[in-house]
Amino acid sequence: MEFSLTIKYVNAQDNAIADWLSRSVSIEQLPPYSLCPIVNYLEADLNPSLFKLLTNEELSSEAKAEGEKNELPKVRWFNDLPYHVESRRIYIPKLFRESIVLWFHGSRLGGHQGIRRTEKRVKEYCWWPKMRETMEEVINNCILCNFQKVLTAKRTVKMALIKPHLFELISLDFIGPRRFHGNTYYILVVIDHFSRFMICESSTHPSQDMVIQCLQQRWLPLFGSPNGVLCDHGGAFIGSKFINYVNKVLSSRLIYASVEYPRGNGLNESSHRILETAIESHPDWAGLMFPEILSNCVLIYNSSPNISIGNTPAALVYGKDPRLPGLEVFN
Ligand SMILES: [Zn+2]
Repeated sequence: MEFSLTIKYVNAQDNAIADWLSRSVSIEQLPPYSLCPIVNYLEADLNPSLFKLLTNEELSSEAKAEGEKNELPKVRWFNDLPYHVESRRIYIPKLFRESIVLWFHGSRLGGHQGIRRTEKRVKEYCWWPKMRETMEEVINNCILCNFQKVLTAKRTVKMALIKPHLFELISLDFIGPRRFHGNTYYILVVIDHFSRFMICESSTHPSQDMVIQCLQQRWLPLFGSPNGVLCDHGGAFIGSKFINYVNKVLSSRLIYASVEYPRGNGLNESSHRILETAIESHPDWAGLMFPEILSNCVLIYNSSPNISIGNTPAALVYGKDPRLPGLEVFN
């Protein structure tokens, strides 16, 4: 009996599955689809309605369709089942992908690990194009992970000093004395370091009580307690009553600019020039009192674009610019 034998050389890469099979178990011992162990685990853990066992035909039909459109250049075929030529992992059709990521990320054996670690786990078993995108889609939307992120994202005073979020770091400073209509005024300036939003309080007698009252009645009800309160060693900021108010009542950290904050209180000081120019040039035609003029000037400051934040302080706080008295905007 004669045999006509043709030896066909197959590129080692293209022969991946046959190569792997020859070193592990015989073809007869293999389940019909080598993904079966994963599918079974998934089924046990996930809501069955989420997960549907596909036949070999269903599993491969998507890859076949994509292959015909040349969308899967790295997929090869073995026994009618698609696999990735480089990783030698079985190809997973779209319907399965999310469930597999969910299982490796959030099942009882998932551990809610991050995107990179979950991706590495999944890649041990299977492959599909743009795996990272699927990982990100599923894991970034994981409710449990997002909930924990909020819990662990504890902001420290140090973080607030380096890069403050809204209302985390405020600074206090005084302008004055300034003469107005025979009186001497001091202006307390309170600024949020993220938005540059400002409130001011004028007084003929600056004191720690006046500062406490301003924070308690004008800042706290609207913006809450900051993580850090930055100030200099001015007389109103070094009294024990003020120190106690910041540390105990606000439970904030009192930070003296020159000591703990090398940048100093420059951010607050740079607002003084704008405020003082506005006050000095304010038209006094209606015979306004100093506090009213100050209110107008604070509104001017809060509703004017700040170059370093690229917006108005008011817009960063309220999401829109305030309506200015007398100014109608026609769109
Ligand atoms: Zn998670």
